[in-house]
Amino acid sequence: MATEAELKAAGEKYIPKDYDPALYKLRHSLAHVLAQAVVERFPQAKPTIGPPVEYGFYYDFDLDVNPSDGDLEWIGNRMRQIIKGKHAFKVREISADEGRELFKDNPYKLELIDGLTAGKDEYGNASADAPTITVYQQDTFSDLCRGPHVETTGDLDAKGFKIQQVTGSYWRGDSKNKALKRFHATAWVNGDDLKAHLARLEEAAKRDHRKVGRELELFANEPVFGSGFPMLLPKGATIRRLLETFITDYERRAGYLHVFTPDIAKKELYKISGHWDHYKDSMFPPMDMGEGGNDDEELCLRPMCCPHHIQVYKSKARSYRDLPIRIAELGNMYRFERSGVVGGLSRVRCMTLNDAHLFVRPDQVKQEIAGVLSLMKKAYADLGITEYRFRLSKNGDPDGPATDKYVDNPAMWESSTTMLREVLTESGMPFFEAWNEAAFYGPKIDVQVKDVMGREETLSTIQADQHLPAKFELEYKDSDDTPKRPVMIHRGVISTMERMMSYLIELYAGAFPVWLAPVQVAIVPIGDRHFEFAQKLGDQLLDKDHRVDVDLSSKRMQAKIRDAQLQKIPYILVIGDKEMEANAVAVRLRSGEDLGAKPVAEFVAMLEKAIATRTLK
Ligand code: ATP
Ligand code: ZN
Ligand code: ZN
Repeated sequence: MATEAELKAAGEKYIPKDYDPALYKLRHSLAHVLAQAVVERFPQAKPTIGPPVEYGFYYDFDLDVNPSDGDLEWIGNRMRQIIKGKHAFKVREISADEGRELFKDNPYKLELIDGLTAGKDEYGNASADAPTITVYQQDTFSDLCRGPHVETTGDLDAKGFKIQQVTGSYWRGDSKNKALKRFHATAWVNGDDLKAHLARLEEAAKRDHRKVGRELELFANEPVFGSGFPMLLPKGATIRRLLETFITDYERRAGYLHVFTPDIAKKELYKISGHWDHYKDSMFPPMDMGEGGNDDEELCLRPMCCPHHIQVYKSKARSYRDLPIRIAELGNMYRFERSGVVGGLSRVRCMTLNDAHLFVRPDQVKQEIAGVLSLMKKAYADLGITEYRFRLSKNGDPDGPATDKYVDNPAMWESSTTMLREVLTESGMPFFEAWNEAAFYGPKIDVQVKDVMGREETLSTIQADQHLPAKFELEYKDSDDTPKRPVMIHRGVISTMERMMSYLIELYAGAFPVWLAPVQVAIVPIGDRHFEFAQKLGDQLLDKDHRVDVDLSSKRMQAKIRDAQLQKIPYILVIGDKEMEANAVAVRLRSGEDLGAKPVAEFVAMLEKAIATRTLK
């Protein structure tokens, strides 16, 4: 029999790699403390499992009542008492029979014990370990558990946790099983950390692009379209157009050539490219055009534009003098993202990527990647994106499980990865490396941004590819007249229009810089007799290509101003008698700041300066 110290040490290996061990133990221990309090409050409650999760933990109970706010308060107070009692977490090994006796009233724990004896861990996953069954006890409460825990409840901070809510769940997550009650809590090392987390949550909720998108009428999810297929409403569509023009202008000046290629192609294309072998799971199933179709081929919605841009390259003979050739497109693509991960605009199933493929000579690779990086930095600066970090995304970890996600060509991976690492190193930008984040055809430089909650996602990507040029037998004629193979650089600078919009909505909480605001100026005539002047002013601004909303409703002035502020319109111009007489406008900002009366010409100059400098006001 193992000693208590050995049993405790054995529990440490269950801490996931990317989880802070201190937080893991603390949250897991609090879950036991919560379970004790819940069972004291509801003696009929049967604890099932209660693991640590991202910001805290949950615990599922078979419980026939809906706990009230009063119950939750009681449970929280009782937990604080237990914490103050400084009870040790004691562990002992038990036999399966002993376990069956100990938990004879809890069918869930009995099922877990059966699983353990059959070589499964408490989450039902096959486990290589010999079935050691352990019980942890603090105070009066014992739980079947593999650990790890803190030493005593005194190591927990009574101010560091908060029970958030109780929701429904199912035993084993399966809706065919018994419905359970899930107690959610967030838990931290101390009260200050808890407060900081709650503040971040509140801020994130305020900025959530789904909420802001609804309030500002930017986009909507229509159930009849299906999940992952949002529609852009007029104001969202305006932002998208502005982004598209913004980036294509930059690209044109950087020597890119824009094309349009079809969203659909024969399956054959993806067989050649390798998408069919390595990316099929992310593609919509092919369309069988059947007997009656005028095509006996199966057709696919494209998940990427690379094979299409390759056809553009191949549309004529290329010489070494022509390279680099930079083919760009706001390319529509379709990916069968799992329904659990799609949401809002950040991960969708039908998207438009700011895509380009650079066909370059081997001696041009580094300089072209450097060119993309500098384009990216300029675009980010204009968009106001200042916090990001670079990730060198590599193929499968050689020490990890085998995978067929990547093309099998070790020499190619080695040389492409080395190339990207050198570019990053030479550019002097700090970066980190990650396994299992590459494209199937090659490694990437990904540009990672964080949301308010600190979650990372990829905006830009630059990829070095020697695989597709070989598959499609791409060539150019070199200076000595021999055929040579170009290298392909895939890159997306401002990501998909969808993901960039979701990011910008949250970055600005909907209060966009003037150049991106769907409506830049709200004109508020005080009474009917100011309507005509307001309308004329609106037309005048529209003529100069500014986006204006003239509020000719019968609402009172204060209500009109408030509406415009809620819509986060940068400038609100109030028109009354005085303004009309002086050909002036009373200028307010969406923040509520009152800039007073200004001659119309002066306001226009101010507006145009804000647009040109891409500022907020
Ligand atoms: P991810 O790892 O996010 O699934 P990926 O590595 O498959 O993306 P790429 O093929 O490199 O993505 O796509 C280019 C860019 O398109 C990504 O960097 C990301 O910004 C964006 N993107 C990818 N998938 C989606 C999606 N489902 N919805 C919105 N944007 C997406
Ligand atoms: Zn435990
Ligand atoms: Zn590509």
